[in-house]
Amino acid sequence: MLDEKIEPFYDEVVRRNPGEVEYHQAVREVVDSLGPVLAKHPRFAERKIIERICEPERQIIFRVPWIDDDGEVHINRGYRVEVNSALGPYKGGLRFHPSVNLGIVKFLGFEQVFKNALTGMPIGGGKGGSDFDPKGRSDDEVMRFCQSFMTELYRHIGEYTDVPAGDVGVGGREIGYLFGQYKRITNRYESGALTGKGLEWGGALVRTEATGYGTALFAREMLAARETDLEGRTCVVSGSGNVAIYAIEKLQQLGAEVVACSDSNGVVHDPDGVDVALLKRIKEVERARLDRYVEHRPAATHRRGGSIWEVPCHIALPCATQNELTGHDAKTLVDNGCIAVAEGANMPTTPEGIRVFHDAGVAFGPGKAANAGGVATSALEMQQNASRDRWTFEHTEGRLDEIMTGIHGLCFETAEEFGSPGNYVVGANIAAFERVAHAMVAFGLI
Ligand code: NDP
Repeated sequence: MLDEKIEPFYDEVVRRNPGEVEYHQAVREVVDSLGPVLAKHPRFAERKIIERICEPERQIIFRVPWIDDDGEVHINRGYRVEVNSALGPYKGGLRFHPSVNLGIVKFLGFEQVFKNALTGMPIGGGKGGSDFDPKGRSDDEVMRFCQSFMTELYRHIGEYTDVPAGDVGVGGREIGYLFGQYKRITNRYESGALTGKGLEWGGALVRTEATGYGTALFAREMLAARETDLEGRTCVVSGSGNVAIYAIEKLQQLGAEVVACSDSNGVVHDPDGVDVALLKRIKEVERARLDRYVEHRPAATHRRGGSIWEVPCHIALPCATQNELTGHDAKTLVDNGCIAVAEGANMPTTPEGIRVFHDAGVAFGPGKAANAGGVATSALEMQQNASRDRWTFEHTEGRLDEIMTGIHGLCFETAEEFGSPGNYVVGANIAAFERVAHAMVAFGLI
């Protein structure tokens, strides 16, 4: 049940954005927490801050034509949704996946505003992408697509305007092609216009690892708040992409045992502990499917279909995609003794799943807090670009650790202050909203 003061805002969002179910879900999850903030700051309601945050500042949709290796013409659709720039230039990744549509991009951009606010860095929120599927495409096809995409996008982005990065389907290769085309069209070597760049051309150490590492660090902090730790804990991490691989690596460094990971075709269970070097080789070098993993590990099994959440664990990190962990999955995890969940992906747990975790007293770290390490390190990349400096791995990782510990502390304390101790969803939503709302009030009606 929504607070009666909040319900009209939510109803209006549903009416004005028909059919965008993921966007409705993301908005509802945030506004659901905001009743006590409106009571504390009546000015936020007077200035219609919630209504303004729910209406993106700008939404760009464009045609992306390109030619495949056989000479056939394809038409995809490109998006960039610039949601809020109260705290800094719009910042958020690009997703290339066939499921991308306006509602998905808006939900991701909306989440990004709050996530970026939690980092304490000077960045606003936005998101973009395309329904282009890079899977099975040659490097040249991906290059032609990226060049066509940037031929429109370049006029909307820039170091002080909007700074895209990677997300699902957009890694170092795609950022390279995008940056190359941006540089060519603008005739400017503007490193700060994109993050996630290669280390030889303006990228930052630790950016590749940052989201996954940060999620594991957030799990460490949630356990520390309950006076326990990751040592010897059994963990399950869904996905096997950028976030999942580095979440597994950091969990192992912190003493945990990771026994399962997945992709959209199935689940790998490795009771001896996931071999992260092998996983990197298969996914990052060979760009192959996950089932190849079991060819090298005799004790491991690969299962098509079924849910990764059936594998018993103490700690679960959903790191694949939205709504991948349902209420049913959450019950299974709780029954099997799960004590903490940190979201590496954006909105991977359904509202019913979150309710199950809260009711069972499971420590639940929502993505906008637990996976903020990626964008925070992107902001550190922008900082290095602006000062033409280059930090060591150790220094940057130290900054990431401080930022994640800080986000955890902020969410924890805010939840206590607003009467929901231990509820990181409430803590994250309120702390982030207050930061953005104060800036919006200061700027007047814009
Ligand atoms: P990748 O493309 O590197 O990996 C995604 C992984 O999730 C793959 O294993 C993929 O399997 C699986 N997956 C993707 N879509 C689906 C789907 N519809 N159904 C089932 N499995 C799916 O992406 P990232 O690791 O970068 O991103 C994962 C999540 O983390 C996303 O929610 C993203 O928004 C979020 N995130 C990423 C950040 C980053 O820095 N990269 C920052 C913050 C959040 P398959 O290969 O079979 O498709």
